[in-house]
Amino acid sequence: MQSTSEVKYSAGPFQPIDEQCEGCERIVEEESTSFCKTYMHPAAKWRMGMCNFATHVKPEIKVAKIRINPLKAAKRASSSRRG
Ligand code: SF4
Repeated sequence: MQSTSEVKYSAGPFQPIDEQCEGCERIVEEESTSFCKTYMHPAAKWRMGMCNFATHVKPEIKVAKIRINPLKAAKRASSSRRG
């Protein structure tokens, strides 16, 4: 049985990667051109901000401080010690 999993990026509708894609793990190189194996139009992914598939950049996540009730935390700690 022949494998049909081989993808020919340069022959398909795939566009070469955007310069901002540099460093992303989803880049595949074919015939000395880099393509994204996830997205056909990499430049379009960056037009609206950062690419949400990018593996080399992470969005800034605002970590909200979670308020922990010290009494409840102490109770939880002591109950977990028992059981
Ligand atoms: S996943 Fe996004 S950042 Fe990575 S190569 Fe594709 S378009 Fe570029």
